[in-house]
Amino acid sequence: MCTFAQQTQYVDFKKADVNVSVDIEKKSVSGLVTYYFDVLNAVDSVFVDAKNMSFSDVSLDGNEVEYSYDSEKLWIKKKFQPSKNKELSISFESSPTKALYFVEKGEESQVWTQGQGKYTSNWLPSFDDMNEKIEFDLSIAYDKDYEVVANGKLVNIEEHETTKTWHYNMDMPMSSYLVVLVVGKFNKQTLSSESGIPIELYYCPEDSLKVEPTYRYTKQMFDFLEKEIGYKYPWQVYKQVPVHDFLYAGMENTSCTIFSDAFVVDEAGFNDRNYVNVNAHELAHQWFGDLVTAKSGEHHWLQEGFATYYALLAEQDVFGENYYFWRLYEYAQELQMQDKMGQGTSLLNPQSSSLTFYKRGCWVLHALREKVGDVIFKQAVKSYLEKHAFGNVETADFISEVEVLCGKSLSEFVNLWIKNKAFPFEEAQRLLLKSPFIQEYEMVDCEAANSKCSYYLDSYVSDEAKIKIIQQKPELINSKTFNNSVKVRKAIAQVLATIPKHLKTDYESLLQDASYVTIETALYNLWSNFPEERQVYLNQTEAMSLKNEATRILWLVLVLSTPDFNQDEKPEYYEELVNFTSKDFNYEVRMSAFEYLLMLNACNEVCELNLEAAKNHHNWRMSKFAKEQMELLKTNKN
Ligand SMILES: [Zn+2]
Repeated sequence: MCTFAQQTQYVDFKKADVNVSVDIEKKSVSGLVTYYFDVLNAVDSVFVDAKNMSFSDVSLDGNEVEYSYDSEKLWIKKKFQPSKNKELSISFESSPTKALYFVEKGEESQVWTQGQGKYTSNWLPSFDDMNEKIEFDLSIAYDKDYEVVANGKLVNIEEHETTKTWHYNMDMPMSSYLVVLVVGKFNKQTLSSESGIPIELYYCPEDSLKVEPTYRYTKQMFDFLEKEIGYKYPWQVYKQVPVHDFLYAGMENTSCTIFSDAFVVDEAGFNDRNYVNVNAHELAHQWFGDLVTAKSGEHHWLQEGFATYYALLAEQDVFGENYYFWRLYEYAQELQMQDKMGQGTSLLNPQSSSLTFYKRGCWVLHALREKVGDVIFKQAVKSYLEKHAFGNVETADFISEVEVLCGKSLSEFVNLWIKNKAFPFEEAQRLLLKSPFIQEYEMVDCEAANSKCSYYLDSYVSDEAKIKIIQQKPELINSKTFNNSVKVRKAIAQVLATIPKHLKTDYESLLQDASYVTIETALYNLWSNFPEERQVYLNQTEAMSLKNEATRILWLVLVLSTPDFNQDEKPEYYEELVNFTSKDFNYEVRMSAFEYLLMLNACNEVCELNLEAAKNHHNWRMSKFAKEQMELLKTNKN
C-alpha cells in the first residue's frame, strides 16, 4: 500500500505559520502550527508527519476536526474536493529525542536542530517528503537572555517579562528538512554581499577575536559564487551559526547554515583546521539542495556533488588553481582506492558512500565542463536553476539542459561518469595531467630509478611535492629543508619521530610555528628524544598551550609524566586535565582527555562519572567511545 506516498499529487501545502515555545527544563517544544494548502485532486484523507507528539487541538478551516494518529502521522480522514486556501491548525507538544537537541555548554544552554537524515517531524508537525515545499514562517518564544535564530529575515522581537518572541519571515518555499532553530548566547557581525544580501556571522561572546580567522574569505566566496553560478542568491539573508557538539561539519538549512564550533579558530588554529571549505560547501547548497532539491536519494549527487564542486571553485578563487587540482587529485585517489576495495557504486545508487556522492559528483562536473566548455556549462547550470527554482530535480533535468545547448547526446558521458560502478580513474588522470602542478607532483618520485629527489627538495617544486619527498625519504631532510612553509614544516615534524642530533636546533624551531598540530608533534617528539631537556621544552610551550585545548591536554600529560617539573602544582594540573573530560568541552577534546587519562591509569571518580554520562551523548562518536572505554575500564578492574 503506497496510496499516500505521493500526497503532493493531491494536496499542495504552501505556507506554514509556526508559533512555538521551547522549554529547556522539560526538553520539549509546544505551540501551534497552521498550514495553508490547496487540494489539487479529490482525495479522502490528508496527513502531516508528526512523530511521538501529543495534540490538544486540531482544526480545519477554523472548525475542530476529527483526526487519527498512529504516532508517526496525523491523519484527517474526510472527503476533500479540489479547493484553494484551506487551513489546517495543529496545537502540539513534542519531546524530541532527535532532530532537535538540548545541549549544555558549561553553565549555558544551546538548542539546535538537524533536519536532514533525522526528520524535522520529530519536533514540528511537517513533511518528511522533500518534494513538499513550504514557506515556513517561524515565531519562537524563549528566555530573554538568549538569542534565537531561525530561517529567513528577522521581522521583530516582542519583549515580555521574562521571555522574548522572535518573529522570522521567509518569502519562498523549502523542504521541511531545511527548517532550522538555534538558541544560544551569541553576538553577531554583519557583512553585506556585493549584491546587497546581509551576511550575518554569529559567534559566542568569548570568541570575538576568533571571528576573522573563523569566517575568513566569507564575503569573497559569497560574491564569487553568485557570479559563477549566474543565479542570484535565492534568499533574503544568509546566516552562519557555530553550535556546540554538532553532529556533522555543517548543515545548509535554508538561509541559515549551522556548523560545528570546533571550526571556531584563532590565527594558528586556522593553519590546522579551518572552516573555509565547509563555509563554501554549505553556501553552495543554498542553490544546490535548497533552491533545487533532489526528488529522491537516487539523485542525491545533485546536492552533494554540486556543493563539493562549487566549494572547490570558490576555494580556487581564494587559493589558486594548484589548490583546485590538488583537491581533485586527492578525490581521484580516494575514489580509486574505494574501487580497489570493491566498494565502488554507481553515482545513482542511493546507498552510495559520501565519498561517491560528494567527490565523484564533483568530478562529474569538472569532467563535464572540460568536455563542453565554460560557456555551455555555465549557461546549462543557469537554465537548470531557473527552470526548477523552488522545485525538485532529477539527474536528467540537469543533463538535458547541457544536451540542448551542445546539440548532442551525452549518454556515453553519463554512462562512463555517472551510471557505471567504476570511477573512470584513467580518464580522470588524463584530465589531471593538464595541470603543470600535477605533472610536477607525479614526476617527483623518490622510488623511481635515477630519482633526483634530493635536488628537487632544495629547488622550487610545490609544497605538496616537497612533502611527498619528505615522506618517501625522511633521510633527505637537512637544515635547509626547515626553510619552508608552515605546511612543509608540519610534515617534517610528523616524519621525524626520531630526531637526528645534528637537526636538533632546527627541529626545536618548530615549537614556534603558527600551527598547534606542529607544536604538539614537535613537543612530544622533542620530549621523547631529549629527556634531559624536558623542562626547557615544557617551559617554552606553556604560554602557547593555554591557547588551544588539544595542545593544553598534551602539555598537561607531559608535565604529569615529568617528575621534577613544577612538583607543587601537579595536583592542579591533574585536576585541569580531568576537567577536560567534562561536558563543557567539545566531544573531540573530551575523547582525547579520556584517552590520555585511561592510558595513564589515572581516570579518577570525576573522570569515570563523566565517562558514564557520555554514554548517553547525542553524538554517536562520543557515546560509542564512552561505552567501549567503560567496558575496558570494568574489565581492567576485575
Ligand atoms: Zn553537503
